[in-house]
Amino acid sequence: MSLGRPSMMPDRVPTVRELLAAGDRSFSFEFFPPKTDEGERQLWRAIRELEALRPTFVSVTYGAGGSSRDRTVEIVERLAHETTLTPVAHFTAVNHSLRELRHLVGRFAGAGVRNILAVRGDPPGADPLAEWVRHPEGVAYAEDLVRLIRQAGDFCVGVAAFPYRHPRSPSVESDTEYFIRKCRAGADYAITQMFFRADDYLRLRDRVAAKGCDTPIIPGVMPVTQMSTIARSEQLSGAPFPPEVAERFARVADDPAAVRDLGVQHAAEMCRRLLDEGAPGIHFITFNRSSATREVYQALTAPSAVPATS
Ligand code: FAD
Repeated sequence: MSLGRPSMMPDRVPTVRELLAAGDRSFSFEFFPPKTDEGERQLWRAIRELEALRPTFVSVTYGAGGSSRDRTVEIVERLAHETTLTPVAHFTAVNHSLRELRHLVGRFAGAGVRNILAVRGDPPGADPLAEWVRHPEGVAYAEDLVRLIRQAGDFCVGVAAFPYRHPRSPSVESDTEYFIRKCRAGADYAITQMFFRADDYLRLRDRVAAKGCDTPIIPGVMPVTQMSTIARSEQLSGAPFPPEVAERFARVADDPAAVRDLGVQHAAEMCRRLLDEGAPGIHFITFNRSSATREVYQALTAPSAVPATS
């Protein structure tokens, strides 16, 4: 008979802050709440396959509307109860009053979830740059969420960072300034938006460090597995796909298998350079599939890992 915590849960779940402070490189995987039963099966297959790699943490994104939001909470609770993984719950301010936000943080705490990624969230609908409307009893910026979570208890809080600046930011300078403000409000670490050139991450890290902020920034990486990703990259990353990388893909564009292989190779090269340059780890955006991520991870951790050329 099970009394108290289910058997998979350690007495005290570590925080990302503690895991990063331990000095090892952090490897983590991001999932999203699926809409269908088949999507749900795919998600749990990917989770189980990636669990074997013993990632530092896994995260689950938070949607813009009702049922997808409940699913995020359910998946995070299940990760905490039924797996050996450390879950990080994404959490947004969209359409939530302060009361609801506090309730949700309480629910995470009740499930033993101590790691929350505080992002403002995009407006509901297809256009991420549509007008962002604050809930009349809610908060306006991720910085406010960081404070709210900190005040609610002993949580470890992550925030978002944007190598190319957030598309709403009028300048790189203002983007850097507000990023540092949310770090100083109590963020323990940041994860970046996806990008496709190591130098773009390094420039972000250097401009933040130049302002005296040493919050660890984990690069967010998504291997390109099909040409359509390149076409959508501006929408996904907030910047055009780097032309010199696009050229490499253009040479194999007619061969889907070669595109995928090059995507894994390019991601592994970029990650190797990021780690060589001192990035604290890699956060893989998986789209709930395990294979490309696993191949990049294996290329990085294999004894004869690829050289850094990207
Ligand atoms: P903020 O830090 O609040 O910044 C938003 C804009 O306002 C920026 O231009 C910033 O410079 C500016 N700003 C900040 N503070 C101030 C201030 N005090 N005064 C004036 N301007 C200010 N979205 C989801 O819906 N669900 C998710 O699960 C999710 N996960 C994500 C995970 C990662 C790693 C990343 C990088 C993004 C994620 N997003 C997610 C997307 C994110 O919610 C959007 O990009 C959102 O538009 C910005 O979020 P933010 O937390 O950076 O916002």
